Amino acid sequence: MKITRILAYQVDLPLQEGSYSWSGSRRIEAYDSTVVRIETDSGLIGYGEVCPLGPAYLPAYAAGVRTGLKELAPHLLGHDPTEVGAISRLMDQRLRGHAYVKSAIDIACWDVLGRAANLPLVTLLGGRSGEAVNLYRAISQDTPERMAESVARYRADGYRSFQLKVGSDAATDIARIRTVKADARAGEVIVADANGGWLTHEAARVVEAVRGVDVYIEQPCLSYEECLEIRRRASQPLILDEVIDGTGALLRAGADRAMDVVNIKISKLAGLTGARVVRDLCVALGIAMTIEDSGGSDIVTAAIAHLAHSTPEAFRFNCSDCNSYVTKAIADGAPRRVDGRMRAPDGPGLGVSPRHEVLGDPVLVVE
Ligand code: MG
Repeated sequence: MKITRILAYQVDLPLQEGSYSWSGSRRIEAYDSTVVRIETDSGLIGYGEVCPLGPAYLPAYAAGVRTGLKELAPHLLGHDPTEVGAISRLMDQRLRGHAYVKSAIDIACWDVLGRAANLPLVTLLGGRSGEAVNLYRAISQDTPERMAESVARYRADGYRSFQLKVGSDAATDIARIRTVKADARAGEVIVADANGGWLTHEAARVVEAVRGVDVYIEQPCLSYEECLEIRRRASQPLILDEVIDGTGALLRAGADRAMDVVNIKISKLAGLTGARVVRDLCVALGIAMTIEDSGGSDIVTAAIAHLAHSTPEAFRFNCSDCNSYVTKAIADGAPRRVDGRMRAPDGPGLGVSPRHEVLGDPVLVVE
């Protein structure tokens, strides 16, 4: 099988809540998502999606996706998309770095592979573990009271796990954690995610002030070394996210026992091929995972669901239904949240069918 044509679509995805805020006064009102369509000489077609969380979250930005695709796509024509490992190596040979650019292509190749095999990706990625995957809800940064109200709203939607966006001044963050915890129900999971927003003196104050409180601390500081320092001071379980951007970072952190949970964002790891390696290494190292991505809608959510649902249940800390954060559905058949959980689709490949009336005309055609 050969790739004959690669197309890209740009789609604006307004956020359900109107806006989303996190540390460092970062805020967005809509996602700028890119959908990739890979056509083959067999007639099989695959789709992928990638969506940075604005330009200031990870070293990724939406226009960069499209520029990178223009650079990379011509090199892929004529190659077999079902050979996902070979495609991944080829992309690394032709474009150094820029994992996020490669992510949508990699997901689309996996989609073609699943359709060719007539199997859902959850099967090809290891097989379904458990009935469904648990979802968390990110709680946009706001006053302690408004964040507690937001938790109550999402609790009513069925979520049992909440990730509070902290990482501003220590006193306010301590109040955010205490206010939400005061109203938490038995069995709920509360994560305080600073997104690297604290210096170590601020992080140290927060973890000391909430010592003995059943809460997880996520990515307290910007650098790995600062996070390791807080890991040594904190009594709470620690989650690393932004600094785990590949196998090297994971193996170093694994050897340092620097965290209890790792967040696997598919686009940070160049797609399902790279994310699967990190997922399997986490299992080997005994580290639980949140499986997610930086943003996007139905196609990203389907990819997350297949990777998460094929991850051994005991290692799944959390998972994200990105498509419930946005107002626009871009594909039919995507996972939908039921009682705070979702499951990987049963159809071949990703198991989703894009809505072409929403995607519009392609912004890039390479043939
Ligand atoms: Mg995070």
